[in-house]
Amino acid sequence: MTQFSVGPFQRVAPGVFVAVAEPASVNIGLIVGESGAVVIDTGSSPAQGAEIRAAAQAVAGVPLTAVVVTHAHYDHIFGLAGFAGITSFGHEALPEALSGEVVAAAAAELGLAVSELAAPEQLFSLARVIDLGGRRVEVLHFGPGHTDSDVVAYVPDADLIFAGDLLESAGPPSFGTDSHIKDWPAALDGVLGLVGEHTVLVPGHGLAMDRIAAFEQRAAIAGFYAEVSDLVARGVVAEAAYEAAQWAFDEETVRAALPLLYAQLAEAGVTPKRQLPLLGS
Ligand SMILES: [Zn+2]
Repeated sequence: MTQFSVGPFQRVAPGVFVAVAEPASVNIGLIVGESGAVVIDTGSSPAQGAEIRAAAQAVAGVPLTAVVVTHAHYDHIFGLAGFAGITSFGHEALPEALSGEVVAAAAAELGLAVSELAAPEQLFSLARVIDLGGRRVEVLHFGPGHTDSDVVAYVPDADLIFAGDLLESAGPPSFGTDSHIKDWPAALDGVLGLVGEHTVLVPGHGLAMDRIAAFEQRAAIAGFYAEVSDLVARGVVAEAAYEAAQWAFDEETVRAALPLLYAQLAEAGVTPKRQLPLLGS
């Protein structure tokens, strides 16, 4: 039986709070302005979303006026139905993702019907600005990466970014069948373009990161893609790939991600070619 719970909202910057929701230890953000407040991500069920909404409302002291979903994974979006009546924002790819296999499998696992879930009402392709009174939040999409619906929430006056699962500090990045590993570093470049020496990056899971940690994770993802591309070019098949190189991530992560990346490369027409011996000279 899945255990749902929501921890207290802890202050991470003036008027910015983070709570951790189980079962996925997902970071839930709360950004408070003078006249309104926005919640970032919604937890793993409509009931948990309602609980987060009530807790955020109690901390905010001003009306909750908006909610943002960073991407289409269960721990971020399944709570959105608990925010009915509040303006919701998310990337335009979210509705399609909600009818996809990854969501269906997660809903079945949690005992939820897909019909209970909600998509955001305000969909956008690149950027939206949310005015909270004396403070603005920029919600930005930098292209596909962890999923094709990733958005980050940037609070310029607090020098803080909620990065969703484009960044992880609780473990390695989460590579799934819906990840775009090749494009992920470019999406992170968009995020890193906002980042200064003291910027606080709140990942989807785990403690806040600084820009050095974010750059390192970007490099590790790019390096992973480059390594696998090189193995394919050298004719190494997926089954032999793990032993054929050194990796920046743990064995379980790499072994799970290798077939995904081989499949993505194959879709792009890149497959291991048997090397023909050079004849004569
Ligand atoms: Zn995710």
